[in-house]
Amino acid sequence: MFDSVPVPPKRLEEYRPIVGDAVIAELKELASQLQGARVLHLNATAFGGGVAEILTAMVPLLNDLGLVADWQVIKGANEFYQVTKAIHNGLQGMFVSWTPEMVATWMRYNQLNADLFDQPYDFVVVHDPQPAGILRFLENRQARVLGKRWLWRCHIDLTEAQPDIWDFLRPYVDAYDLVIFTLDKFVKDGLEGPLVRIIPPAIDPMSVKNTPMSRESVENILRSHGVDAQRPYLCQVSRFDPWKDPTGVIDAYRLVKRSFPEMQLVLVASMAHDDPEGWTFYERTARRAGEDWDVHLLTNLHGVGNLEVNAFQTAAEVVIQKSLREGFGLTVTEALWKERPVVAGHAGGIPLQVRHGETGYLVSSVEECAEQIHFLLRNQYAARTLGKTGREHVRENFLITRNVRDYLRAFVGLL
Ligand code: UDP
Repeated sequence: MFDSVPVPPKRLEEYRPIVGDAVIAELKELASQLQGARVLHLNATAFGGGVAEILTAMVPLLNDLGLVADWQVIKGANEFYQVTKAIHNGLQGMFVSWTPEMVATWMRYNQLNADLFDQPYDFVVVHDPQPAGILRFLENRQARVLGKRWLWRCHIDLTEAQPDIWDFLRPYVDAYDLVIFTLDKFVKDGLEGPLVRIIPPAIDPMSVKNTPMSRESVENILRSHGVDAQRPYLCQVSRFDPWKDPTGVIDAYRLVKRSFPEMQLVLVASMAHDDPEGWTFYERTARRAGEDWDVHLLTNLHGVGNLEVNAFQTAAEVVIQKSLREGFGLTVTEALWKERPVVAGHAGGIPLQVRHGETGYLVSSVEECAEQIHFLLRNQYAARTLGKTGREHVRENFLITRNVRDYLRAFVGLL
């Protein structure tokens, strides 16, 4: 038994005004084939990052639809997270040295977690590489009894995966019944066992992070975190991670500030406990910001939670997501939903959301990033139009109800 993550209940009916009758009807129809099905979502962290965000919304909605869904978190410790972060980086294309000691650590923790697995489920959805080995380690213990169907959900951009790391992982992935990727191009050749489905992530329009806020509440939050509510600011919400390029964001802001001296920059980051690199990149970012007090580095440790993220995204002049690699980028979805103009890295799943010139701008360098921000600051009409188109694009494609629908279809397909 792992630690279960408590999630407040949600009612699907409350989504009807946002998504419409047809969407609700389809969900109910699909769920009618899965009444009472026991679903376990298993991942490495209850807090920080997109996976936690999605599960907080999806698990209660599955329950409201008559399935019996739970979200649990595997056991780990720093030595394990060091290895899993290296795997994450290697799979996203950074060179990391992949040693026998790292293999042994990953296997030891997957074995340990497999030993803790003791409840039966109809569907087990394992997220990302950290716990991916559990199924193989369970094989000797009637894995197919403990979970009738096993799904591996990969949230990572695997296009440039370091071959030795993917080769190591592949046999573990091959054991699954179904593998879910965000994009077609993330699917690796050579997977022999599992079926493959493409399911992009989604945001919860009813969450504290995504419901509309009054101007007054927004300004109170800005002020209480030292941001001048009377002056414009750019904002990026992202873990401190090399792939999110926080130092590149500061460089782009500096270029913008030459022509807009009143500009501020707000970098919001949560420190996930399975991300040991966070502090290193926080320090690197803080050094790049130097003595510029118009650059605000804020984290969950400063009390920046979902409501605050909502406020910072809502009032930003431009939302930046200057990722160099990105599985999907829920922060982009969140900003589009708030009708913000977005300038984002041309990476991974971002172009699915940001159609260049239509729902935002895609950039591949600091200079391009600054240039597009300049353009948006000077062209308020264009900025507003992008925002409005962006919101409808999200409504059509990237709300949690679509994500739930895709999972229900996947489960039904495995019956
Ligand atoms: N997030 C947050 N506080 C922060 C930083 C991030 O709540 O300080 C949230 C963010 O709003 C988004 C998720 O964490 O919902 C990050 O998901 P994304 O897909 O953008 O990136 P990941 O961290 O999964 O790579």
